[in-house]
Amino acid sequence: MSADCIFCSIVDGDIPARTVHETDSVLAFLDANPLARGHTLVIPKAHAQHVGDLNDELASDLFAAVTELTPRVQSVVGADGANVGINDGEAAGQEVPHVHVHIIPRFEGDGGAPLHAVGGDRPDLSDDEVDAVAEAIAE
Ligand SMILES: [Zn+2]
Repeated sequence: MSADCIFCSIVDGDIPARTVHETDSVLAFLDANPLARGHTLVIPKAHAQHVGDLNDELASDLFAAVTELTPRVQSVVGADGANVGINDGEAAGQEVPHVHVHIIPRFEGDGGAPLHAVGGDRPDLSDDEVDAVAEAIAE
């Protein structure tokens, strides 16, 4: 737990939230500043700042909740689709330093954008550069 983490405070019950799902290791609640009706956050109860900080079991529990909740949320609000995503790190827009998966219901013509729109200017990469990145990640 982290003393001044708002999501740890929600887990502890010190800050109220509209909880929609809870297991021993995972909590899901409605976003307090929703981007869409039904915007849901899914978090590990244990404090972790980055996705890479999650162990295999917790990552599995977290994604199991996401796969269960995404269609349920969509159904409840009558959405046509959903964006599921994580802002990992400040540069990526992470505002609360506790891993959270956004489930954002999407509706035809809602004026939103796909996840492809979150990137900055597209890099101009040679095939060699792309190959080098792939090899380095795979190592
Ligand atoms: Zn926390």
